[in-house]
Amino acid sequence: MTAGTPYTGRFAPSPSGPLHAGSLVAAMASYVHARQHQGNWLVRIEDVDETRTQPGAADDILHTLDSLGFEWDSEIIYQSQRKERYAAVLAQLLNSGHAYPCACSRADITIAGTQGDLGWIYPGSCRNGIPGDRTARTIRLRTDDEPVSFYDLITGTQVQRIESEVGDFVLRRADGYTAYQLAVVVDDADQAISHVVRGADLLSSTARQIYLGQLLGLPRPQYAHTPLV
Ligand code: GLU
Repeated sequence: MTAGTPYTGRFAPSPSGPLHAGSLVAAMASYVHARQHQGNWLVRIEDVDETRTQPGAADDILHTLDSLGFEWDSEIIYQSQRKERYAAVLAQLLNSGHAYPCACSRADITIAGTQGDLGWIYPGSCRNGIPGDRTARTIRLRTDDEPVSFYDLITGTQVQRIESEVGDFVLRRADGYTAYQLAVVVDDADQAISHVVRGADLLSSTARQIYLGQLLGLPRPQYAHTPLV
């Protein structure tokens, strides 16, 4: 480990099964890039969605990484143990009016919303309050349509208008679990991650993460999205 280096990278697998080839590419790319820059490299277990966690999968992934010779530089963090932290950030976003409760189910959104390239676009139905006698299911982040642009080290300049391409997105799910988008932003900041090297399946989530990080006043990491296997 190199103390005090400005580079900190990470690999953040979800323990929904053993390490698969796609994840291994992300692990390799983030590891090699970190070491090439004399950086630190961390592993974070993204078990925020406990409905998808397979018992034993986290240990299995760590064992595989270890047996392949990967060496991580500090203690592994588990998202399932950070619920209080996520709740505090969510409370902050609710208090500032950036987040709001939403009563819509998926079915409501398919009726009122439109379908975009990234799925159904939330039409903002509960933005100004939950109508009538309905009750809150999720908490969403209020977005705007200013283009969010960033330079990705592999795929180049990317631009997304979140409000019209994605819509206000979920921060706390209907089942009470923190959404990945919130957990990943908080964790990357708390672990002082300077470089996020991961698979291109997450390229379309990056603008949302940058937007949320900006609202929270967090530093923006450099991103690199590797081609999918
Ligand atoms: N946990 C995510 C996955 O395994 C990766 C999240 C990230 O790298 O930001 O697909």
